Amino acid sequence: MAEVKTEGQKLSEKLLNHKKNGWEEVSEPERRKIMKFSDGYIEYLNNGKIEREIIKESEEIAKAHGFKPLASYKKLKAGDKVYYINRGKNIILAVIGKEKLESGLNVVGAHTDSPRLDLKPNPLYEDTNFAYFKTQYYGGIKKYQWVTIPLSIHGVVALKNGKTVDVRIGEEDDDTTFVITDLLPHMGRRQMAKSASEVIEGENLTLLVGSIPFTDEKVKEKVKLNVMKVLNDKYGIIEEDFLSAELEVVPAFKAKSLGFDKSMVGGYGQDDKVCSYCSLMAICETEMPAKTAVCLLVDKEEIGSVGNTGMESMAFETFLGEIIHLCGEGTTPNILNRIYKNSAMLSADVDGAYDPLYSSVADKKNASFFGRGVGMNKYTGGRGKSGANDANAEYIAKIRKLFDDNKVHFQLAELGKVDEGGGGTIAYILANKGMDVIDCGTPVLSMHSPYETTSKFDIYHSYLAYKAFMNKYM
Ligand code: MN
Ligand code: MN
Repeated sequence: MAEVKTEGQKLSEKLLNHKKNGWEEVSEPERRKIMKFSDGYIEYLNNGKIEREIIKESEEIAKAHGFKPLASYKKLKAGDKVYYINRGKNIILAVIGKEKLESGLNVVGAHTDSPRLDLKPNPLYEDTNFAYFKTQYYGGIKKYQWVTIPLSIHGVVALKNGKTVDVRIGEEDDDTTFVITDLLPHMGRRQMAKSASEVIEGENLTLLVGSIPFTDEKVKEKVKLNVMKVLNDKYGIIEEDFLSAELEVVPAFKAKSLGFDKSMVGGYGQDDKVCSYCSLMAICETEMPAKTAVCLLVDKEEIGSVGNTGMESMAFETFLGEIIHLCGEGTTPNILNRIYKNSAMLSADVDGAYDPLYSSVADKKNASFFGRGVGMNKYTGGRGKSGANDANAEYIAKIRKLFDDNKVHFQLAELGKVDEGGGGTIAYILANKGMDVIDCGTPVLSMHSPYETTSKFDIYHSYLAYKAFMNKYM
């Protein structure tokens, strides 16, 4: 016989917010879908560790789903799938909607860059029979996390003759690898007494790259010369070519399933490639939407969205200008501002997940948890919401309804306790132009570390969230 519910139980069910771990409600077919989606994501992470690689990979995936370059269109109509690549580091994709552009766009925007170490313009030197590369770190890192782990080098060397050499070394099983050394504990007494931010000095984030001397008594820096000879044999480059190179040092280990139950993903660069992948897959499955759907994969978020491939650049306006023209709306007065005013956006960037090992910095009532779906932040700024986008209540209400109607698991959270956390995303940039924007992304543990952790449930529900938004938000 079913137990009769008390008045209080009934009232509690009706009035109170009962957050649940989403895994508890997952059916077997659904579980298989979640796992399969994550397999695709893990492959995406392993194929693309830096922004240039991710853009190439995203272009391949988009092409396989019927997207064509902007330049190939003379006219655009509802259902057309178009993409535009800006300097190899930034891709914008759109599926043209049935309504006019003027009625607004549904935009999901993620970033493809992740914290890392970049080679300095003059990186190579020799000291005591070792050859080294000097680096400058990119984005917010804990420097001590980058020593004594296998590292790989990715990027390009641009030559004076106009050609570009692609570099990707340290990823294959038979590739060589690189490391930044650290002091042994036996001699580390004074080092260990330093504060964590000073344990590894920025100038010591220096990559060990060789130790065999070139045998010639007449040469001074023999190990350096030998390394340069290896590089010249392999890539045809000389030392001066480093002046026009973008070489990025990232962890060499692969992304994998994590935990006995394989419920999580461990890997480098999940901030924000997890949202890049989910939004890319979402737009690939967007057909004939009412409003034009847009997926933005931008660069330079980790250093303030600056530069000509970052969200602050005019690249998006350039793209919009082109599609306005191709959709035949170029004569509508003030068209760009009208589009912005009527558009909505999910700023698809990761959220800091609640970590029981570091509970003191979180407000457990307002944190993102693994297994509860995509995490939304009304605001992300610290010190009294400073610099935050602070999404409008009316907009959040519409998003809540959309997600509930489409069975998307979501949670609303803050990034850390009051005066403990805070951070920035690209949300405010498009909000400043008049769009409705809210931060909405996958919760992550160990964010900005060489090996970040996410929940497969949340990854899948981020994808479902973006798909519902691109296809159905009105
Ligand atoms: Mn991010
Ligand atoms: Mn970040």
